[in-house]
Amino acid sequence: MFDIDQIRADFPLLSQQVNGKPLVYFDNGATSQKPKVVLDAIQKYYTEINANIHRGVHTLSQKATDAYENARNIVQKHINAKHNYEVIFTAGTTHGINAVANGFTKYLQKDDEILISALEHHSNIVPWQMLCERTGALLKVIPINENGELILSDFEKQISNKTKIVAVNHISNALGTINPIKYIIDKAHQFGAAVLIDGAQAVPHLKPDVQELDCDFYVFSGHKMCAPTGVGILYGKEEWLQKLPPYQGGGEMIATVTFNKTTYADLPHKFEAGTPNIEAGIALGTAIEYLNTIGFDAIASYEKDLLEYATTKLLEIEGLKIIGTAQQKASVLSFIIDAIHPYDIGTIIDKMGIAVRTGHHCTQPIMDFFNIPGTVRASFAFYNTKEEIDMLVVALKKAKMMLS
Ligand code: PMP
Repeated sequence: MFDIDQIRADFPLLSQQVNGKPLVYFDNGATSQKPKVVLDAIQKYYTEINANIHRGVHTLSQKATDAYENARNIVQKHINAKHNYEVIFTAGTTHGINAVANGFTKYLQKDDEILISALEHHSNIVPWQMLCERTGALLKVIPINENGELILSDFEKQISNKTKIVAVNHISNALGTINPIKYIIDKAHQFGAAVLIDGAQAVPHLKPDVQELDCDFYVFSGHKMCAPTGVGILYGKEEWLQKLPPYQGGGEMIATVTFNKTTYADLPHKFEAGTPNIEAGIALGTAIEYLNTIGFDAIASYEKDLLEYATTKLLEIEGLKIIGTAQQKASVLSFIIDAIHPYDIGTIIDKMGIAVRTGHHCTQPIMDFFNIPGTVRASFAFYNTKEEIDMLVVALKKAKMMLS
């Protein structure tokens, strides 16, 4: 049963007023709000079991280690990884992509190719450009059409035996496009390329099955799926994680250290140098359990309804143009109104209690493609309502009147 009142009651922050108006939080693409169970898990960690993990023989350290490792197992089960040591805790999506890109330095040569898409977040562009600079590899880009969908015929032309890595997002943060990643993964594998999926925007909306997808890497951030900031996951197939060198050196990731030579710890520790964000890792496990209690099927169908409702309502505003009209879309609406600068709209509706994101959303190439400085982006979560969408529409009409 999808009980929206109960769900909203789970999120203490949602009931506040902002600028004297009830908060309408539509900036979920940037970060999600946190349910009480997640806040409680953090509090419980610090009030009951705070200790450093993996190294102490004492009881608290073992309790903390057990809780942390339990969270790893929750993630493993959630994404259906074959082994729990294929689940690496990171600081977030950006960290995960950089770890992989860095690891590939050893395996790329001049004129090898890396294929990304025109829909990527800067964090799935820049690390690959840096890898190209280190190795002489070439960066290729799958273009998009006017709807903000990948042009697959172009992908098919560009992929070749020279392609070593394909890195694309599962869902675009700027436009909400859901990409046909299974097709891309299978095609890339026919040419022997490894595939990294940036799942940052997908994990709040769906449950990825990494074995069914057969991706080589799947990365995401906890904070977009009701967990704290500063924690994320790098899933990698065992064979790749064995092959790639560690991204960072330090404590925890070693087997033996002498001044002559260091040997690395087994997976997953090889990729987990230093003291991690322990409470956030534990709370990520709690967040995943919370989302699964609601159920991803229920979340998807509720959000689909919100998206359809919002699309219809927003299009009633004269001069409003939705950027990103893909067939397959998550609950993200990016739009512009006439020639009004998105920043001005965002600032005015904030005064009415409505939080949206404005700007390029860390996807400048998408904005360049559409020849706009940015968009207003309303991104919906399962705790949003149609009443809130109505409030957005009223606020946008007022903003438009004030700014025209
Ligand atoms: N990729 C996508 C698609 C994203 O939306 C984001 C966050 N906006 C990132 C990567 C980067 O995530 P983080 O800042 O949590 O590392």
